[in-house]
Amino acid sequence: MTRPTRIHIHLDRLVHNCRLVRKLHPGPVLAVIKANAYGHGDVLCAKTLAPLVDGFAVASLEEACRLRDAEIQLPILLLAGVFDPSEMEMVLTHGLTPVVHASWQIDVLHNASVKSPMPVWLKVDTGMHRLGFLPEHVLPAFQSLSHGGKVGPVILMTHFANADTSDDALLQEPLRKFRHVLGQLPPVETSLSNSGVLLGHPGIQGDWARPGLMLFGVDPAAPGAATRQDLQPVMRLTSCVSAERTIDVGESVGYGSRFTAQRRTRVGVIPCGYADGYPRSAPEGTPIQVGNSLAPLIGRVSMDMLTVDLTDMPQAGIGTPVELWGDSVAVSTVAAASGTVAYEVLCQARRAAVQVHWAEDMP
Ligand SMILES: *Cc1c(COP(=O)(O)O)cnc(C)c1O
Repeated sequence: MTRPTRIHIHLDRLVHNCRLVRKLHPGPVLAVIKANAYGHGDVLCAKTLAPLVDGFAVASLEEACRLRDAEIQLPILLLAGVFDPSEMEMVLTHGLTPVVHASWQIDVLHNASVKSPMPVWLKVDTGMHRLGFLPEHVLPAFQSLSHGGKVGPVILMTHFANADTSDDALLQEPLRKFRHVLGQLPPVETSLSNSGVLLGHPGIQGDWARPGLMLFGVDPAAPGAATRQDLQPVMRLTSCVSAERTIDVGESVGYGSRFTAQRRTRVGVIPCGYADGYPRSAPEGTPIQVGNSLAPLIGRVSMDMLTVDLTDMPQAGIGTPVELWGDSVAVSTVAAASGTVAYEVLCQARRAAVQVHWAEDMP
């Protein structure tokens, strides 16, 4: 038997979630598929989503080139623009759309051999303070971009630091800054919404939406919060119980002997660990679906296996199917227990053998 640990990518659910985005947002949609589509496989996801979206957004030239090599022809936005003037040539040959967030990038554009005016996304820093022009610098940046005939339509964008909370108040000041800047420019299209905005702040709508996480069926709100929309998890991580033993009171399990048995304990071993993307920081008690019930994680997660307490599950044993996250345990639950967010956990889940499903075909 081969190692039974699998990542399942349910492309039908990706389609479902994307249709939901389209229902929430009437305007054009760029699917954000940076970081290998949040660990789901960027080419596969792009091909699936291409008929449903107006473009894609990625973090690097390498990611964009991989999509072009796979014959993705829709617009591709580089979310941080170019990192170096030398990238400009590839941006032009591949017809990519850069974000411009700093004035040196405007110089790069002016120095490039642009044949026909290219679209550019101009980023406003409304309070995140990572990338973008401060509000008072946007008008001069816009004017400078518009000189010289190299730039076509400019789309004004910003990214909110607090869209994941449902507290509208935290978005009011950034929004006010954005609208103020917008009022100084000739009419341009805008882009404001990531998943948190689409799900939690429907009153805020720019022209272009930029959803990432929700396409993969995960709500960025704190786990346990009421499900806001019918999102379906695209990724499931599954395995089987591969070994078991019973230990006496006082005996321990795994590295560092973190777990010590308070009762005679039946330990199940699951061949899935942090090399598969399951967080090493997952604490005792993190729920894992074993057969039809939830078993608590016990002991430290190792590189390629972890252990659960099967004492109260006499029906479970070697060969019983396991779901680490997906339908029975949300990836957000595993992430929150481990002190992180679903974004990080999904991005790390790349190593397990991948099975792709178009329609429902559970193991
Ligand atoms: C990653 C990213 C998004 C997508 O955010 P989600 O929370 O995954 O929807 C949108 N805009 C920018 C600028 C990003 O970097």
